[in-house]
Amino acid sequence: MIFTQLYGPMYRNLVFPLYDSVLRRRKTYSYYRQILSVPYLSPGEIDRMRRDRLRALLEYCGRKVPYYRRLFSERGIDPSRVDDVRMLRESGMSITKEEIRSHSDEFISEDFNIGDLVCNFSGGTTGVPLPLYKTMDYWCMRMAIKLRSEDWIGKRPGTPSAIIWGHKANLGKVARARRQLYWNFQNYRFLSAMDIGEESLLTYVGEIKRYGARYIESYVNPVYLMAKTIEKYGVDPPWLDGIVTGAERLHDFQKEKMEDVFRCPVFDRYGCSEFTNISCECGKHRGQHINADNLWVEVVDKNDRPVIGEEGEVVITDLMNYAMPFIRYRLDDTAVMTDRKCGCGRNFPMLERIVGKETRTFTAPDGFELHGKYFQWILYNVPGIFRFQFVEKSADHILMRIIEDGKTPREETERRVREAFSELAAHGVRITVEFTDSIPLTGAGKMSFFISERDGRA
Ligand SMILES: [Zn+2]
Repeated sequence: MIFTQLYGPMYRNLVFPLYDSVLRRRKTYSYYRQILSVPYLSPGEIDRMRRDRLRALLEYCGRKVPYYRRLFSERGIDPSRVDDVRMLRESGMSITKEEIRSHSDEFISEDFNIGDLVCNFSGGTTGVPLPLYKTMDYWCMRMAIKLRSEDWIGKRPGTPSAIIWGHKANLGKVARARRQLYWNFQNYRFLSAMDIGEESLLTYVGEIKRYGARYIESYVNPVYLMAKTIEKYGVDPPWLDGIVTGAERLHDFQKEKMEDVFRCPVFDRYGCSEFTNISCECGKHRGQHINADNLWVEVVDKNDRPVIGEEGEVVITDLMNYAMPFIRYRLDDTAVMTDRKCGCGRNFPMLERIVGKETRTFTAPDGFELHGKYFQWILYNVPGIFRFQFVEKSADHILMRIIEDGKTPREETERRVREAFSELAAHGVRITVEFTDSIPLTGAGKMSFFISERDGRA
């Protein structure tokens, strides 16, 4: 614990700049220093910045990115004349994950080879994860933006913290040790969000205290369940400065419970694999500041018209990703935009709240509790799947529906699925697989990757 407290300032002032700038020759640290003051520019300057960036990106896409080149020509869009997403909206232009999935190569700029780019994967709530590409330089910028958002809540690089997050399933000992080392280097204690039963959560509380963590970063459900477990067993909570939640909808009752039990503020953050950090609360808790120097975020109604103060669909243009540009990308999330000023001095536009996605948890017959994201993470290495859905048939039976991608023999896919879920058998859960041509949508016309038919629940 003493070590983690001493290591914090050392990491921030010495280890991080040296490692990033000198050893790895990256720009995360220098970008972080450069962008700290941008939110304090005037609203006019911020607006000018994003208009200039939008026009530059569109002109580039018109020349170098096959999908947009074709789209602009079909819709008669002259990129050199567009400096506002409104003009794209009026020409009916937007893209979806499905379009990227079907034309993936056409979304990559002709200036880059895929092999030279950094790849991560979209969350894949309804289908197999989609590969997302960016240059190493832009990846550094996204990391710098994440660090800047943390600065808004008073958390500086190297502050001892705990992270409760998902990971690939069935990792070996060496892989687990490497992962912990990666996080320890940044002064984080990594805790798995895959197993969030009471016993594990109580162990986590002890580990967080021993580590001297000042912040917990987590999906909403694990840290909320941790608060409930602390309360139930009358355990002393760790002494924290804040809890940062993300990746799931944060309900008021959950926030209240966590603030009550942990006796510290909860800061909600909105992000996704495509754009990393989209917006984050600051210390004033008046909504979330959008990282508007990099992302142009719109909230629109069913007719694609912008709405303020009411719920709408989130559409995002990434102003800086030139390798795989996202222009008016429909995120399949809902949020509420506000024109309120925060009062903290930062002039980035704000989201009032994120309605976002819900992620449910699954309880096995032996009480083993699993975070819903477990089911997504576990499929990362399974070939042959185009789309999937889990159906909770009963407490001990989960049916997995699969639409195949036609690239892998069916037997191979089924074998790999069974292998991936093998550890569930130890908890009394049986997985069956059903290959199908279609998966029905929910009443709202959306795709749900986890539904329950147990006890009549839907
Ligand atoms: Zn603020």
